[in-house]
Amino acid sequence: MKPNPISPTIPLDQDGVHHGFLKLPYSRDDSAWGSVMIPLTVIQNGTGKTALLTGANHGDEYEGPVALQELAYTTRAEDVTGRLIIVPYFNTPAFQAATRTSPIDRGNLNRAFPGRADGTVTEKIADYFQRILLPMADVAVDFHSGGKTLDFVPFAAAHILEDKVMQDACYAAMRAFNAPYSVQLLEIDSDGMYDTAVEEMGKVLVTTELGGGGSASARSNAIAKKGLRNVLIHFGILQGDMQIDPTVSLGMPDGDCFVFSEGDGLFEVMRDLGDPVQAGEVVARIWPRDRTGQAPVDYRARRSGILISRHFPGLIKVGDCVAVIGAVEG
Ligand SMILES: [Zn+2]
Repeated sequence: MKPNPISPTIPLDQDGVHHGFLKLPYSRDDSAWGSVMIPLTVIQNGTGKTALLTGANHGDEYEGPVALQELAYTTRAEDVTGRLIIVPYFNTPAFQAATRTSPIDRGNLNRAFPGRADGTVTEKIADYFQRILLPMADVAVDFHSGGKTLDFVPFAAAHILEDKVMQDACYAAMRAFNAPYSVQLLEIDSDGMYDTAVEEMGKVLVTTELGGGGSASARSNAIAKKGLRNVLIHFGILQGDMQIDPTVSLGMPDGDCFVFSEGDGLFEVMRDLGDPVQAGEVVARIWPRDRTGQAPVDYRARRSGILISRHFPGLIKVGDCVAVIGAVEG
């Protein structure tokens, strides 16, 4: 197998705090021998578990980058037992362009796994995590939000897995993250996801959806920071007491949780995030974008539960996700 072209500018396995980059050669018009420089901090102290911490897997999601920048800046080696590998801007080209996918190759990093050492820039990043960084990790925390086109109630999530021992470990880590909502997540499109790569390697995964709309709030950033610290305490990497607050447990048992648009137009949301909804209730409607005097098209919840996600922009297109309903458990 071809070696991956990425090289770290700092040691990955030495005690202390090291700030540097993952350097990915990228020859282009404005820089013949240029590189994509992915910011990286490694903090190690003795032996213990390794946490691989990533934000901006999608470049327009900001709670993870904020929480991880602070963690990298404030954590001292003596605070750690084991190792933190901190990558606040997982898809750095996308992050720097404030877009979901990479402006270099349009790569969606969360659909690029396991990646290719001789592929596109995005595939090379995926391959480096798949073959070099993930094997070092015991737990991976990958922060997401809705980006520019979706908004979410703040939740930590874990997937339903065939390996129930692994599933229990992931659920325990999700509960340690302790976001206001905890969701057993059904993926509609799991091929190529980082989540799938982590789980197939037998590593604990915690993922989140903490907000959206292409920005972050003081509240959503605080949820990210608290959850991150809690998870690191749960794995014995940081010391201290976990801060545990009430959480609402939700499930996504089937595709009826999702409502999709079948037309273009002016988006009118009829329920807000966190609102309870009944099956058959109108959660949104779409008005014509080019005329008056026509009825809107109603979009109804296909199951009862809580509105956990919604389309964010004021205009909507055919095929867009209108809303997601989470099922209340127990
Ligand atoms: Zn995302």
